Amino acid sequence: MALQVADRWFEFERLSDDITRIWEPHVIRVMQCNIWHVRGRDRDLIVDTGMGIANLYEASKHLFDKALSAVATHTHLDHVGSLHEFEDRIVHPVEADTMTKPSENFSMLREEHSPEFIESLERAGYEVGPSYITALPRADFNLSEFSTPAAPATRLVTEGDVIDLGDRVFEVMHLPGHSPGSIGLWEQRTGILFSGDAIYDGPLLDEIPGSDIAVYCDTMRRLENLPARVVHAGHDPSFDAARLKELARAYLGKRA
Ligand SMILES: [Zn+2]
Repeated sequence: MALQVADRWFEFERLSDDITRIWEPHVIRVMQCNIWHVRGRDRDLIVDTGMGIANLYEASKHLFDKALSAVATHTHLDHVGSLHEFEDRIVHPVEADTMTKPSENFSMLREEHSPEFIESLERAGYEVGPSYITALPRADFNLSEFSTPAAPATRLVTEGDVIDLGDRVFEVMHLPGHSPGSIGLWEQRTGILFSGDAIYDGPLLDEIPGSDIAVYCDTMRRLENLPARVVHAGHDPSFDAARLKELARAYLGKRA
């Protein structure tokens, strides 16, 4: 399989004056995480950091002009790959251990993963091609060997903790189910929720190592009643309150 080298690895979409979505177009959908940059008065926020295949910090430098905190909504590979590039790293304590060591080797090639793993993604509704990436970040990128450096948390946050950007305040919601330490960031004043993989408008993964369907149902009951105006999720496009309710109810209808 001959993959071309990509012209650039990250795409940027400015959703408002202070919120930019960053993503990796050459990563297949199941691993293509939304990376959010939120501009604050005293401090900016990066919510999730993508695969770490290319340097997110360098590519996004034009957005950065002040102190920056990087939050991991949870520690799955596709959300924490570039976390080590940021000095200030915020994680929920339940998954903090994961970040104290380098990630295990992850192959980009389908044939090097167990059929069970691939089947579980396909059963959930994802298409997995021959490779997790559809272009190379650089000519010498090794498809069989990929790992990311340790990125130990510098701050641990749990339910009710606050991340203060000076003029905007995000409250941490613990939203386990997809993973035990999944968190969301809720801004009451604007009704904005950064939801990570707790909820997004695509096939949800709840049968992977660390996920728990009963616990996920409790999280969905909370989300169903959250007065959100807009949800910026870990994957797929953002959505509104009506869709949030619909997605939470659909999950509960299937799993509760
Ligand atoms: Zn995940």
